[in-house]
Amino acid sequence: MSQAPPLIETDDVVLHFPVSGGGALGLTRRAVKALNGVSLSVRPGETIGLVGESGSGKSTLGRALLGLETVTGGHIVFDRAAVTGGKRQELSKIRRETAMVFQDPLNALNPRLTAGEAIAEVLRVHKKVPKDKITDRVAELLQMVGLDPALSARRPQALSGGQCQRVGIARALAVEPKLIVADECVAALDVSIQGQIINLFLDLKEKMNLTLIFIAHDLAIVRRLCDRVAVMYLGRIVEEGPTEAVFSAPRHPYTAALIESIPEIDPTVSLPDAPMQGEPPSPLNLPSGCSFHPRCPYAEPQCSRDPPPTLRRRDDHGWACILDPGQLPRPQTATRLQNA
Ligand code: SF4
Repeated sequence: MSQAPPLIETDDVVLHFPVSGGGALGLTRRAVKALNGVSLSVRPGETIGLVGESGSGKSTLGRALLGLETVTGGHIVFDRAAVTGGKRQELSKIRRETAMVFQDPLNALNPRLTAGEAIAEVLRVHKKVPKDKITDRVAELLQMVGLDPALSARRPQALSGGQCQRVGIARALAVEPKLIVADECVAALDVSIQGQIINLFLDLKEKMNLTLIFIAHDLAIVRRLCDRVAVMYLGRIVEEGPTEAVFSAPRHPYTAALIESIPEIDPTVSLPDAPMQGEPPSPLNLPSGCSFHPRCPYAEPQCSRDPPPTLRRRDDHGWACILDPGQLPRPQTATRLQNA
């Protein structure tokens, strides 16, 4: 993997959304603590998976990285341009050089535009090719994502979910982005179509040296696609490292529980005994100390008393827990996931 400087880097990013209401007069000030000190860097050509349960902050982080959310604190730098507090010129660089692929492929496309018009619109806005070359470039982009250029005349309603998602990816590629953030982009698709879209990303990654932040809750897909993985819990990264290292020997109890809680496909193999206790606490009211302590089978008294553990790093593999590497059992599901 490239040792080039990071393409995008965050330093201690905090994002709290104020919410009104609460208290006898409804005047209590509260905030959803969506991101609580996220530091992450992604190098050019890397594919990083952001994983975690709903409400872990992974989609909020993805949007903040592209300047689509205003952060409360910390810094985000994209290709030496400040995303946070950036000047108009720097923000416009981010708009020009990044793209997002969304979860719901049908709703992400304008129902009034054909597939070809939807891609041409991006080419026109970003002034990527002269007007007389737009049709050729649309055909090229459709082929790049494995679609017959003849489909360019169809509206989204006349395309399958997988075809709509390919059009969404073609629109992202039309920007010629340095960075793509894909937010749960295969979650709404059938399993066989999911496989095709993942193969497409693998292909594009190899051919175009794509830098991709892949937000997903499906760990098997992340293991197949991503070079690195960052595990989020209640707005913090609790583990981050090379995908194989994280999946085969997790260092944070939350990561280990996530891996163990993947439904078993083989009915002859029994599920692990309740690897994850309870639901995540509300981001309106984070637990003291390590946020995972109410659910952690390894919690010690200091876990709720002391400040949350910061990310320790060894062998390019970071974890935010008082436990040392090797203290957690290896996940039973590691081998099955590898073969998924
Ligand atoms: Fe569990 Fe304590 Fe580690 Fe948090 S710091 S994950 S509560 S052992």
